[in-house]
Amino acid sequence: MAQDDIFGPQGVASPAQSVTWNAQGDVRTTQGDVESHKVTAGSLKGTKFSLGPCNTRSMSRAWRVAFAPLTFALSLGGATAPAAAPSSSDTASDTARSQRAWAAACSDSDGWDQPGPPFRIFGNSYYVGTCGIAAILITSPKGHVLIDSGTEKGADVVVANIRALGFRPTDVAILLSSHEHFDHVGGMAKLQETTGARVFASPAAARVLLTGEDALADPQYGMHPPMRPVARVGVIREGQKVRYNRNGLVLTPLFTPGHTPGATSWQWRSCVGQDCRTIVFADSLSPVSSDAYRFSAHPGYLAAYRASLAKLAATPCDILLTPHPSASGMREKLAKGSLATPAPASCRDYAKGIADRLDARIAKEADGG
Ligand SMILES: [Zn+2]
Repeated sequence: MAQDDIFGPQGVASPAQSVTWNAQGDVRTTQGDVESHKVTAGSLKGTKFSLGPCNTRSMSRAWRVAFAPLTFALSLGGATAPAAAPSSSDTASDTARSQRAWAAACSDSDGWDQPGPPFRIFGNSYYVGTCGIAAILITSPKGHVLIDSGTEKGADVVVANIRALGFRPTDVAILLSSHEHFDHVGGMAKLQETTGARVFASPAAARVLLTGEDALADPQYGMHPPMRPVARVGVIREGQKVRYNRNGLVLTPLFTPGHTPGATSWQWRSCVGQDCRTIVFADSLSPVSSDAYRFSAHPGYLAAYRASLAKLAATPCDILLTPHPSASGMREKLAKGSLATPAPASCRDYAKGIADRLDARIAKEADGG
């Protein structure tokens, strides 16, 4: 059995080029294999989480502005919510207003679990995370894709934000992730239970999701509390597009190891009429590690890290989003109303900034630091 075949009945281990889901919950690979499994919660034991080092600070601040009312159809109960927000309210002014509301409600130093209002990014893409940790919802009339859960506590904010936009959490069909640290996927088990969605991840991230334990190869190994394990995780391969409902949502994974071994960036298109944007949810990629770790002592990992940065730099990218919103200046862009303005250099500049940090880190290691 290949190493990647261990991830249970939902795993898709064939060398197919895409994974396709339909609203009935079947999965189909391009080789014609069809699996149909209902997600069932496994035995999950509760784990107490605490904030620890990951990427940026974890301060807390009172949310100054009350949850901004949106003109999207609100349905906090969710029982009668439509699967997609009404297109009649899909106006630029609604989008701009919801974006300004987030910029007013959140600061760059907000904590990972600090509630913040959801907003429309562009077209069918929405921000549903907290002030400090991103979660991205990509919608379709027949079901949605959600990237990242936040912490276990933050996942409650994500669910509330999905409802506040008028969507049903149970209409989330696929759960994806950026990187396998507890501030981004600690709530994944809870979200899988809440939504009934299927979780897909890179092979390295899947191992962490299934065990709840950081990988030995993780530069931050030993720094984080264990996560509640996810019951089932499907494995995706590099270049294996995730499709929902054929001709519907299509997301391209870009494996970008560096910050973690299983880190994945995501690219997709969202449109308003004929006006489309290529959106990239680029992983953190920051060279943060435990005190004892040396990137220069792991040349293979370092080479993969640099390849990730080169890959990201070359990726078409109109709108850049990051797991920590401040890493890509999201609040400033929202305040200026420029988040959805195409900025082709976004990913290139982001990768360059991280490459500079990595170079500085390696130089420091060479100096004995
Ligand atoms: Zn991290």
